[in-house]
Amino acid sequence: MTESDTARHFLRQWIEEDLAAGKNDGTVVTRFPPEPNGWIHIGHAKAVWVDFGMAKLFNGKCHLRMDDTNPSKETDEFVEQLKKDISWLGYSWDKFFYACDMFDTMWEIAEELIQRGQAYVCELSQEEWKAYRGIPQEPGKPSPYRDRTPEENLALFRKMRTGEFAEGTHCLRAKIDMSSPNIHFRDPVIYRIVNQPHYHTGDTWHCYPMYDFAHPIEDALEGVTHSMCTLEFEVHRPLYDWVIDRLAEQGRLVVRDGKTIRPQQREFSRLNLTYTVMSKRLLRQLVEEGHVDGWDDPRMPTVAGMRRRGYTAAAIRDLCERTGISKYKSLTDLALLEWCVRDDLNRISTRRMAVLNPVKLIIDNLPEEAELTAEVPNNPEDETAGKRTLHAGRELWIDRDDFMEVPIKKFFRVTVGNEVRLRGLCLFTCTHIVKDEAGNVTEIHGTYDPNSKGGNPSDGRKVKGTIHWVSAKYAKTVEVRLYDRLFAMEDPMACPSGNFLDALAPESMKTITGYVEPLLADALPGEHYQFERVGYFTPDVHASKPGAPVFNRTVTLKDSFKAK
Ligand code: ATP
Ligand code: MG
Repeated sequence: MTESDTARHFLRQWIEEDLAAGKNDGTVVTRFPPEPNGWIHIGHAKAVWVDFGMAKLFNGKCHLRMDDTNPSKETDEFVEQLKKDISWLGYSWDKFFYACDMFDTMWEIAEELIQRGQAYVCELSQEEWKAYRGIPQEPGKPSPYRDRTPEENLALFRKMRTGEFAEGTHCLRAKIDMSSPNIHFRDPVIYRIVNQPHYHTGDTWHCYPMYDFAHPIEDALEGVTHSMCTLEFEVHRPLYDWVIDRLAEQGRLVVRDGKTIRPQQREFSRLNLTYTVMSKRLLRQLVEEGHVDGWDDPRMPTVAGMRRRGYTAAAIRDLCERTGISKYKSLTDLALLEWCVRDDLNRISTRRMAVLNPVKLIIDNLPEEAELTAEVPNNPEDETAGKRTLHAGRELWIDRDDFMEVPIKKFFRVTVGNEVRLRGLCLFTCTHIVKDEAGNVTEIHGTYDPNSKGGNPSDGRKVKGTIHWVSAKYAKTVEVRLYDRLFAMEDPMACPSGNFLDALAPESMKTITGYVEPLLADALPGEHYQFERVGYFTPDVHASKPGAPVFNRTVTLKDSFKAK
């Protein structure tokens, strides 16, 4: 169930009204249009959720389109990664498009604009062009190139295509209204020269369409009915509609079942999260400058990073649902995402015991060769997950934090003279400890109650504390990576130095060695574990080897984070 199934937000209402009014052919076609110039992040996941979710709600279709009209940083690797991440999020597209496959048609449309006197080649420099455009409060000034003849414009436009001009010297502008209060209407640039090869079209083109021109054309040619994007495009909407009107004029709108499909755009607010940055440009910088271990570093807000860290697709969708669809600019607390992750992992993760900060515990009254067994549930939230049997001799590892020599009030765990439950195994009373020369506790000694099988005393007496343990004889050692927030500031972009890199947390990853119960040696990437009383962990997809998993901490068990 997604929010779009239940909530009555404005996008849903918009589509419902269109359907009721008999617009288009009665079908809903949406699209998710990423630029393949980086890996998608959780902000994109929100757009995926909106675009695919709304199509699903109305039994419509959603296209996946590479918005690849900008040659500089696009690659096929990014395309493949996008597909993988969107599939992992739980969505499948009805049709797949490359915008660059529409370059020829876009060109024809532009030439037809020129022929109709609706576009011209301008030679103002970018600074001049900005100065002529002016400010919204006052009318702009027309370009001296505005009244060129169509023949002149066509000849120049064709030279832009074949690479005869340097970047920045010429551009194609739509001829609209230099005094419009909407700055985007003041003869916007629709083609600019980029003398760089494109990952699919190579050196065929030396000029490329601008987003504002290309996007409505892509939507129209694909027969998209409802085009949803983020709020910053709201002021571009009149231009979007202007382009659609020109396409209608040129007879280029798709006709389905005898009905002309006229795409429309609506905008919703972006997802913003605390303690992270969410622009591909900045994420790329983190990767390229080596601040993180790749786009899928478990501390990155990318979908792949979150997956590698152990976040689930269900948790990410849950976050989208909880933050909803609105027009208000908002900042979502990362703690909410972590809450969603814990909520899902609590339901699905397999319970295991692991000791990450070990100290030895010795059951003095258990004979050398004797063993105790524990039968513990694999997931108390899911009976079908069954139970497992653990074995232990007289030596165990427990967590150092579960012992206090001088206990504070309400400390019910291991202290000299106190009885605790060793989870699923038995009751244990500490009798004395051994320290090294530096005063560190090295051994905790005590006795167990032979009549407390499974940790339940035969006389029914109450024992408050239960701690986890692993058998010293059977435990495996594993590498564990403890991740924290990548940034130490809620809004890294507000870093006083002006450089978001200065907001990087000094220690956002710590590697330790832990003792884990033997079954965990066979853990595989993609599996989710709760290390009981510790947190949620998953084997790292890159570092793990068969029989030797390396665990990433997905999230702690409780929110230990104190908001400033
Ligand atoms: P970035 O600045 O991170 O590169 P972008 O918008 O340039 O983001 P695109 O690949 O063009 O990246 O984005 C594809 C779609 O994802 C767009 O429709 C965009 O509006 C949407 N999107 C990007 N970031 C967010 C966000 N934080 N919240 C919601 N939607 C987003
Ligand atoms: Mg973009």
